[in-house]
Amino acid sequence: MITTNIFLFILGTIAGSFINMLSGRLITSVPILTARSRCDNCQRLIRWQDLVPIFSYIRLKGRCRECNSKIPIYNLLSEIFLGVVFVVLYLLYPAKLWIFLAIIVTFLVAIIITDFYSYFIYDITLWPIFIVAVIMSKLNNDLWFGLITSVLLTGGILIIAKIVNFSFEKEESLGFGDVKLFFVFGWLFSLEENMWLILIASFSGLIFIVVRYYWLKKSIREKIAFGPFLAGAAIILILLQRIG
Ligand SMILES: [Zn+2]
Repeated sequence: MITTNIFLFILGTIAGSFINMLSGRLITSVPILTARSRCDNCQRLIRWQDLVPIFSYIRLKGRCRECNSKIPIYNLLSEIFLGVVFVVLYLLYPAKLWIFLAIIVTFLVAIIITDFYSYFIYDITLWPIFIVAVIMSKLNNDLWFGLITSVLLTGGILIIAKIVNFSFEKEESLGFGDVKLFFVFGWLFSLEENMWLILIASFSGLIFIVVRYYWLKKSIREKIAFGPFLAGAAIILILLQRIG
């Protein structure tokens, strides 16, 4: 039991490390299939001993070995978070569901990071979640249910957005990436759970704006990405065993 948990924790940190690399390349527009990682600032190759999850970040005190520039904190946080979540999922769910949920949460973390830093939800982070969601629906013989929920939810969001006159331009409040995210969530959660998801995401987004206003003295009107809160709310629902 303990050995399994330690193994899953390490696996989670490696997944975190992979997602950091993917997110970093997406945010800085470096081709995904670049062979080796480089420092965002000085462009020098990162040595293999500086790529060990969690330990490398702590040993380097969160700075590049060569140029001393700061390595974004999400690199450490996502490795710890996924390490813990990989173990928790194993404790909460039947073993046969574990791999599906681990993949879903891993890419939800990628959406949190990339949308937070670049205000964009990349298709490459959505596809793995979508594929796994469809496979899970198929295993539960819920394919039609998944499709109908997804279409109703996405349709509803589009109609509401039209009524309150949101635009899907890049600069506006609700981006088209968010709509695609809802299309995927329709496969994962029921309509009722999706309502909860929107509530949790909106509420935490509001708290974030207030905290940013009072602590960081940023304007209320400053741009905020909604994707990280939606993806975060989805992780909360998964940890509350609202899936499968
Ligand atoms: Zn550097």
